[in-house]
Amino acid sequence: MEQQAVALDYQAVLEQVAADVAPLIGSGRPAAYIPALAGVDPGRFGMAVADLHGTVHGVGDWRRPFSAQSITKVFTLALVLAAGGDALWRRVGREPSGNPFNSLVQLEYENGIPRNPFINAGALVVTDALQTLTGDASSELLEFLREESGNPELGFDAEVAASEAAHGDRNAALAHFMASYGNIAGPVPALLDHYFWQCSIEMSCADLTLAARFLARHGLRADGSRLLSRSEAKQINAVMLTCGTYDAAGEFAHRVGLPGKSGVGGGIVAVVPGRCTLCVWSPGLDERGNSVAGVAALDRFTTLTGLSVF
Ligand code: GLU
Repeated sequence: MEQQAVALDYQAVLEQVAADVAPLIGSGRPAAYIPALAGVDPGRFGMAVADLHGTVHGVGDWRRPFSAQSITKVFTLALVLAAGGDALWRRVGREPSGNPFNSLVQLEYENGIPRNPFINAGALVVTDALQTLTGDASSELLEFLREESGNPELGFDAEVAASEAAHGDRNAALAHFMASYGNIAGPVPALLDHYFWQCSIEMSCADLTLAARFLARHGLRADGSRLLSRSEAKQINAVMLTCGTYDAAGEFAHRVGLPGKSGVGGGIVAVVPGRCTLCVWSPGLDERGNSVAGVAALDRFTTLTGLSVF
């Protein structure tokens, strides 16, 4: 059932949200474990909403590209489900991990099967699957994002990718460990390259709201063709709700009430199925890795509009 499209003045709502969260902008700290991200200005804030037809409204730095980081995990997951179907779920679970996103501890006693596709271990498995299915996971992802956002300029940030590779021992450990259980099909060094390139993609709030629209459109792409079945789109939204904001997904669901996926670049994408997509960016992160002003802004948005999945 589509949600009733009660007319909302998104621009006015966004301006209200930006005013309400202004005191929080600059709180928290940009991610420091990837040195190329540590220098981002924590005073930035942008937010955008795209309706189902692709009209975008925004406020603040909503057109400014930032490092999408783990938000890209949503799109790789969608591409794998679109190309390979349900087989992926034999290699990765869909339960919250209750552990930090880059944790190794669960993997050993769960036999190399990551808890979900949004922790780093799970995303490495998804990228490996996309690599097997397409032969070039990062280019496939970039092409998809360019098409859905309508922005042919989207690209990788070579400095961020190199910085991640130089400080990627933990991701390398995760990948090698899973390979020892037979849960990585291709060579680990190539997998890590694709994974780091994906994380380094630069996108604005406007780009991300447009690219994520298939999740609000029950699986339909921007051109009207079907990427995912309605049920697969529902499944991704469900995993975003339960696992998309690190080990604070319960708190995020409590405050925001929408499927969301955050990244350590300070962005968060959220979906109102049947209605719109949202993206907010502010680089100051809380101790769990979610943007402080970003979560607050989404909280204000759903409170002001009443839009939520609940
Ligand atoms: N590239 C980051 C990493 O692998 C992504 C983390 C994130 O945004 O959650 O650690």
